Amino acid sequence: MLKQFLPNEHFKSILEIVPEQLKARGIKGIITDLDNTLVEWDRPSATPQLVQWFDEIKKHNILVTIVSNNNEERVKAFASPLDIPYIFQARKPLARAFKQALTQMELKKEETVVIGDQLLTDVLGGNRSGFHTILVVPVAQTDGLATKFNRFVERRILNWFRKKGMVQWED
Ligand SMILES: [Mg+2]
Repeated sequence: MLKQFLPNEHFKSILEIVPEQLKARGIKGIITDLDNTLVEWDRPSATPQLVQWFDEIKKHNILVTIVSNNNEERVKAFASPLDIPYIFQARKPLARAFKQALTQMELKKEETVVIGDQLLTDVLGGNRSGFHTILVVPVAQTDGLATKFNRFVERRILNWFRKKGMVQWED
């Protein structure tokens, strides 16, 4: 049951995810979280390194949709300058926004990865909808109020995985 929270892969940062490797596995699309996945939850826009990463992704013809539980104001202000499609108030882990993103990209779930920093929303939602899931270490140590309780639960789940030897990384 707890395996629903186990990501398929783990990276220190989204910037370490290499487009060539995604391509080689037949991946054509990315559904990514915003807050503490792409940038700190309280940083309004993308860093130069992230802009460069998105350029690389686009060069490899990999589509991206930002799927965030945050509000329209936050998500639109971040995504619009980058010209990246987005879904706000996604209510992850529910399946609806993931499905909507797939439909918009005209891709199959087998061709798409879900990237995020939270087990309870990004990984659980992605796994339940049948995606390959990638967990990244949160960009900031702090969180918005809505995330604080999730982090408490998440730490317990991660500790359980560690005890069982199911995760190898440290954070
Ligand atoms: Mg997040």
